[in-house]
Amino acid sequence: MQFTAEHEQLRQTVKRFVEDEINPHVPEWEAARTFPAHELFKKMGNLGLLGIKYSPNYGGMGLDISYQLVMNEELGMINCGGIPMAIGVQTDMCTPALHRFGSDELKREYLAPAIAGDMVGCIGVSEVAGGSDVAALKTTARSEGDDYVINGSKMWITNGTQADWCCLLANTSEGPVHANKSLIIVPMDAAGISHQKIEKIGMHSSDTAQLFFDNVRVPKRNRIGIEGAGFMMQMIQFQEERLCAASGALKSLDRLIDLTIEYCKERHTFGQPLINNQAIHFRLAELRTEVELLRSLTYRAVNEYISGKDVTRLASMAKLKAGRLLREVSDSCLQYWGGMGFTYDNPLSQSYRDSRLISIGGGADEIMLGIICKFDGTLPKKAKK
Ligand SMILES: Cc1cc2nc3c(=O)[nH]c(=O)nc-3n(C[C@H](O)[C@H](O)[C@H](O)COP(=O)(O)OP(=O)(O)OC[C@H]3O[C@@H](n4cnc5c(N)ncnc54)[C@H](O)[C@@H]3O)c2cc1C
Repeated sequence: MQFTAEHEQLRQTVKRFVEDEINPHVPEWEAARTFPAHELFKKMGNLGLLGIKYSPNYGGMGLDISYQLVMNEELGMINCGGIPMAIGVQTDMCTPALHRFGSDELKREYLAPAIAGDMVGCIGVSEVAGGSDVAALKTTARSEGDDYVINGSKMWITNGTQADWCCLLANTSEGPVHANKSLIIVPMDAAGISHQKIEKIGMHSSDTAQLFFDNVRVPKRNRIGIEGAGFMMQMIQFQEERLCAASGALKSLDRLIDLTIEYCKERHTFGQPLINNQAIHFRLAELRTEVELLRSLTYRAVNEYISGKDVTRLASMAKLKAGRLLREVSDSCLQYWGGMGFTYDNPLSQSYRDSRLISIGGGADEIMLGIICKFDGTLPKKAKK
């Protein structure tokens, strides 16, 4: 990865934004179990940060995804996981398919305001009956004249209570499960939509909701691309989500190790600083090495994505490793903080709670392993029904 002066400039902008506009509010937003998405996103939109990789025709910066990686890395310096996740939904999860496959009219109506920070988006894929098996989802969008009529519900939706629109994956016909789905932009003020907030063990500042759709009428022109191609588009959209998860982990991991080194230098036991114990400094060196390996893998995946290659395998590996390493680093480092690590307002316990999600959301570890196995040809073929 070759970073230029422009990358560095962007890095400094995001760094300052995190220090001035986000971190001072994290304790308040975590306690409130939500954050002011419209207010924060508007500030980010004003700086161009919500459309780095998107076309200037819709207010984006028109840069390649390496610049998005730089922003995601810097968002890793936020003192919690909920806010970077909410921002990532807007930049890397609910907008990539709209940008790539949506009509000009749809992009003007929903993408441009999302880039400007005037609208908050969410992505509606998972359901109560299952999130890993995306093809099995039950929500329907039945054709009625020029409209779809949507019925069903979506589970675990990030930004769900505040979103202005949802990029919804629904069944638009019966037929084979990989070819009967469409992505539809659903305005969240449409009649028949309700939501219920979900309590979680971490990611407190991110608002997570179950969404209910009861005969919700949406014009067919709100469909992204052709009918029946939604599953395929969502699989493509997932690649940017997974690269976002991996790049967002990098500085966050380094920060946890840095804070632990600092603490272990100050904390004394048996007449010497904790860091003098080889068991501790060797372990931290080992973890740092793992972070560098993840960085190399993520940078390689991003480079290949920029050159137009299919990165499904590399992005799945990077997402898998990011989730596992976040768990490992949070747990190992927390240990060296002793009782302080077990208190609530501690950076290690915060990460211990928040980062547990990375091995579950956006495709669980086992789903990533399954994808890697497909490329290795080691997955048993399913019996035909
Ligand atoms: C805080 C939070 C925010 C989220 N945000 C969103 C969002 O904005 N939009 C959205 O659409 N979804 C969102 N999700 C949903 C998330 O993507 C799903 O939780 C995830 O895909 C797993 O689906 P599931 O919870 O239904 O678990 P299940 O599909 O029931 O799987 C349970 C577990 O079984 C194992 N497993 C599943 N399949 C296999 C297999 N084939 N082989 C081996 N093991 C397997 C895995 O360990 C998995 O964790 C969010 C979830 C959370 C908790």
